[in-house]
Amino acid sequence: MKIGCPTEIKPQEFRVGLTPNAAGEAVAHGHEVLVQRGAGAGAGFDDADYEAAGARLVDTAEAVFAEAEMVVKVKEPQPAERAMLREGQVLFTYLHLAPDPEQTRDLLASGATCIAYETVTDDRGGLPLLAPMSEVAGKLAPQMGAWSLQKANGGRGVLMGGVPGVGPAEVVVIGGGVVGTHAARVAAGMGAAVTVLDRSLPRLRYLDDVFGGQFGTRYASAGSTAELVAQADMVIGAVLVPGAAAPKLVSRAQLSGMKPGAVIVDVAIDQGGCFETSKPTTHQDPIYEVDGVVHYCVANMPGAVARTSTIALGNATMPYMLALADKGWRQACAEDPHLLAGLNVHAGKLTYYAVGKALGIDV
Ligand code: NAD
Repeated sequence: MKIGCPTEIKPQEFRVGLTPNAAGEAVAHGHEVLVQRGAGAGAGFDDADYEAAGARLVDTAEAVFAEAEMVVKVKEPQPAERAMLREGQVLFTYLHLAPDPEQTRDLLASGATCIAYETVTDDRGGLPLLAPMSEVAGKLAPQMGAWSLQKANGGRGVLMGGVPGVGPAEVVVIGGGVVGTHAARVAAGMGAAVTVLDRSLPRLRYLDDVFGGQFGTRYASAGSTAELVAQADMVIGAVLVPGAAAPKLVSRAQLSGMKPGAVIVDVAIDQGGCFETSKPTTHQDPIYEVDGVVHYCVANMPGAVARTSTIALGNATMPYMLALADKGWRQACAEDPHLLAGLNVHAGKLTYYAVGKALGIDV
């Protein structure tokens, strides 16, 4: 199969759909790989790395889309890319169609077969192609929160780990899933006193079994959340209710009860945020203040560490990319119901129920 990888064109997107290693694996499986010149630059991969892996470099995205039978990307196709998709072509990338009727309309019109990373499932009920980005965002959250806590950034001027004779920062993580667990581990590793809140008792039991001693756990009632938030130097929002906007767990009124210069890192901002006062920010202008509380609400946190994120995403997508290329999408999806769960659009038809329900389109 001819597999194509164009340069990402969404603003501030530095990741790339294929790493040189993934390109090399596809070549070893007998496939032809086309990569747009410069596609890996934002993630620190040179054109020469792709050539050494056996890929062929082409000058333009048009050349990639014209030749490739399967296009592998990171972000949802932008309008100029959607115009280049064609009937019978496979697109494998993040799509996030439910809130995006324009993209959905264009993908349906293209006739292409579009498989979304975010709806591929695994045996344990997880989302294996979303998890790597949650791991990255989780580990980044205390790092960005620690920076925000510095006085020059409007923060409380508290060091995460304290020093001998001075106590550490108190960090509260709301939501103990993938993001929350990675955030808690890093914050605890920095020496902070960490408590994770979740409303799932099985999840709290797991965290206590595995990480007991490194950080504490509390059941996430409205009362315990309010109490811990009021005492915290940093609150990390990491909740997810699948298929729904994030619940607002901390109200504006509660902010005035927080310590002056405390920091909120709302990782759940990509689902609307779990603090009433959250609004999306960018890596260029990541923080703002409301009632003396510093808010960090960057919606695409993994973009800050594009190289790590690209490699992590590539590790996760590679087996699926190879299955699609080796067997063709029909056979690969017929053999693997988890990959089939990624199929969102095929030949002008929407094939994913939740997207159809959100957009009022027949599936
Ligand atoms: P997850 O499903 O692994 O974990 C979510 C956890 O939240 C679960 O353990 C669940 O029990 C818990 N939860 C749900 N409602 C709760 C409530 N009311 N109180 C306390 N806990 C509650 O999800 P995840 O992969 O960790 O993702 C968390 C959030 O981070 C999502 O909104 C995701 O979209 C977002 N995210 C953002 C970025 C970014 O760049 N900003 C990157 C990756 C993920």
